[in-house]
Amino acid sequence: MKSGGFHLSTIDKVLSWARSSSLWYVTTGGGCCADEILAAMGPRYDLERFGCVQQIDPRQADLLIVTGLISYKAATHLRALYDQMPAPKYVMCLGSCATGGGPFAPEFSYGVVPGADRIVPVDIYVPGCPARPEAIMNGLITLQEKIRGHQRSHPQA
Ligand code: SF4
Repeated sequence: MKSGGFHLSTIDKVLSWARSSSLWYVTTGGGCCADEILAAMGPRYDLERFGCVQQIDPRQADLLIVTGLISYKAATHLRALYDQMPAPKYVMCLGSCATGGGPFAPEFSYGVVPGADRIVPVDIYVPGCPARPEAIMNGLITLQEKIRGHQRSHPQA
């Protein structure tokens, strides 16, 4: 609310705005969808203008982007990656493989986890095979809106 040149807000709103505007992320880097993230990072799409900066250390990240198929062998590593992130933390599931196994779905391969939500709590799904950079940007903007609106799809661990 604006009153006589002053902006009135609450600490919660300011914190949510700050969090949503600085989503530092780590990716699992699996599958061809990982290449789409690289494309989204490049100068044409420039994810950094949304405050999304890639990190290599999960301890400095707010957002985990899961890409590619997840084998049962890799599932413990995915969970370990998530557990190292400080709260509040968010998870984006990118593409068909991470969402439900995609063309490697459990009906075809017994070693594939049928979706990242079996391992970590997912806040937002971005569909596609592959998920295009435009879809990634749309997913990030939607997640930012969720954070600003305090809408959470799951309680924080
Ligand atoms: S969803 Fe499609 S493009 Fe993405 S990792 Fe799976 S097979 Fe590759």
